[in-house]
Amino acid sequence: MNTITTDVLIIGGAGSGLSLAIFLNRLGISSWLVERHPTTSPAPKAHYYNQRTMEILREEGLADKIYELGTPAANMARVGWYTSLGGDGELDHKTIYLMDAFGGFSLAETYERDSPCRSANYPQLRLEPLLLEHARTSPLAHLNYHHELVSFVQDADGVTATVLDRDTELQYEVRAKYLIGADGGRKVGPALGIEMDGIPRLFDMVTVHFAADLSAYLDDDSPMIRWFLSPDKGGSWGSGVMVALGPEKYDRHSEEWLFHFAFQPDDPSQFDAESVVPRLRDLLKLPELEPRIIRMNDWKVQGVLARRYREGRVFLVGDSAHRHPPTTGLGLNSAIQDTHNLAWKLAAVLKGQADPSLLDSYEAERRPVGARNVNWALLTFQNHLVIDAGIGLIPGAPVEVNREAFRLLFSDTAEGATRRQRLHEVIQSQRTEFQAHDIEIGFAYENSPAIIPDGSAAPVKSPMGDEHIPVTRPGHRLPHAWVTRSGGTISTLDLVGRGRFVLLTSSRSLHWQKAAKSVVGAAVDVVAIGPGLDCEDPSGRWAALRGTEPDGAILVRPDGHVAWRAEDSDRSGQLAGAVKRILGRDAA
Ligand SMILES: Cc1cc2nc3c(=O)[nH]c(=O)nc-3n(C[C@H](O)[C@H](O)[C@H](O)COP(=O)(O)OP(=O)(O)OC[C@H]3O[C@@H](n4cnc5c(N)ncnc54)[C@H](O)[C@@H]3O)c2cc1C
Repeated sequence: MNTITTDVLIIGGAGSGLSLAIFLNRLGISSWLVERHPTTSPAPKAHYYNQRTMEILREEGLADKIYELGTPAANMARVGWYTSLGGDGELDHKTIYLMDAFGGFSLAETYERDSPCRSANYPQLRLEPLLLEHARTSPLAHLNYHHELVSFVQDADGVTATVLDRDTELQYEVRAKYLIGADGGRKVGPALGIEMDGIPRLFDMVTVHFAADLSAYLDDDSPMIRWFLSPDKGGSWGSGVMVALGPEKYDRHSEEWLFHFAFQPDDPSQFDAESVVPRLRDLLKLPELEPRIIRMNDWKVQGVLARRYREGRVFLVGDSAHRHPPTTGLGLNSAIQDTHNLAWKLAAVLKGQADPSLLDSYEAERRPVGARNVNWALLTFQNHLVIDAGIGLIPGAPVEVNREAFRLLFSDTAEGATRRQRLHEVIQSQRTEFQAHDIEIGFAYENSPAIIPDGSAAPVKSPMGDEHIPVTRPGHRLPHAWVTRSGGTISTLDLVGRGRFVLLTSSRSLHWQKAAKSVVGAAVDVVAIGPGLDCEDPSGRWAALRGTEPDGAILVRPDGHVAWRAEDSDRSGQLAGAVKRILGRDAA
């Protein structure tokens, strides 16, 4: 059997696998990616990418392309709840509520303050080809579509896998130093016997991807997501959710749309066009609608977390490690953040800069984030039920009782005003999903061997996940501030990343330069920010955020998370030891 040799064998060529191949290439590491399908997935799954993901993709030069091709900011500034699109009844075509979301309107100032990137909306079925195109220009990424992992074994030095080329029906062997399960949990985790804890099937969903001209029924272009709560269907479980899919326009003139319906697991409804199209017409109150069905998918809402993210030389990333409801859009976002966390560690170990024990920090850091995301997505999924309560719907009550609740909500009476205020107050809890700024960019790593705590307390988290407090405390993502360099404006995040450790200081003294030169194993770049230094801080934002004396320093890992910090230059002699510890070389 033919044998291919590579550093990293990646199983799965979707969001996780492609992003890992791209990140590894940037770090000078070769990968062999196998994907059992001939192309990327045509299913309209993820579409929303939060600011942290966009910061990571910006590092690869991909963010501007996604902004250019995806939803304009003005068309993703809100979410809306409606009774229907059409119909001329008293409760038809009503807006139940509009909420600012994803950095839109009232949120803009905070979101813009905390990141150089806005969040983005671009369907996964179009993002994956973009990632693939980018990966194809990455010389160290060897991409093999229509190739399937059949089996694998590992030993002390590496992993040997058998792969089937589905075009030729011939099998070949791949010998790799590491194997990554980016396969959505289909093969690698189960083969290792890694159990998934949690809820394997909460609801069944069907997603319809269709083309139709809906412009005549829409009069507001600001919502990215439109929820339909039909007064005739008794609340959330008879409802649906709609998102514009472009590809040219993402406003009311969008050529394509996706619509998700929820089904109870014991619902006998059939997931076929014959039953779904009438259901779509009925819910939207558009009896004449003739959608061109492009694709239908059924999928299950689950909330599960892998008990382990690593077994020897095999790692799980993305959906193979955690699967959760799409609410809050954390799936592909955390998949890309997983691979970003793992890539630099694999590179440091493969290049001999770090001890293999550095790889233990992947599970220590990402599994708690995965656990939080599973729980958060379940919480925000369940939280849609409170909207029913906010409207005054009673589960199981006769249709007329619940229609009356809608009538009163829209009525021009004192009670109507009270009911609208109640809904407003209840629906504010949806900020856990649509304004989840801290959940999106505020995750931090605690109890990791690759982070050295400095004894400071973590900032108090807002319980609703919306308020983010940027800090340089070890474990946290480096805060963003605009600084200037050579006359241009850049983000502090532009100073770090790309496989390097960076030490940020605001001091002119040579202490830190000397300390950086004494580091063994990894290069540490020193960047001084302040008047007359490498970068200037004209707004004073960095000085307000840095959390150290001007002659202190902040050591930032290649993934943009702070690994260590020193209050002042008296501790400069500790830098080399800190890097050694982070890279696991002290254990070695
Ligand atoms: C309706 C819906 C809406 C969503 N919305 C969002 C959102 O807005 N934002 C967000 O971040 N996330 C969202 N998600 C979640 C997101 O789609 C997933 O988290 C994401 O696809 C995970 O990517 P992945 O690469 O880890 O896994 P997958 O996308 O499952 O890819 C795994 C790949 O591995 C391949 N594979 C499997 N077995 C083998 C084998 N033996 N050999 C070779 N290849 C193999 C598969 O063919 C597949 O291509 C949504 C999901 C759904 C269903």
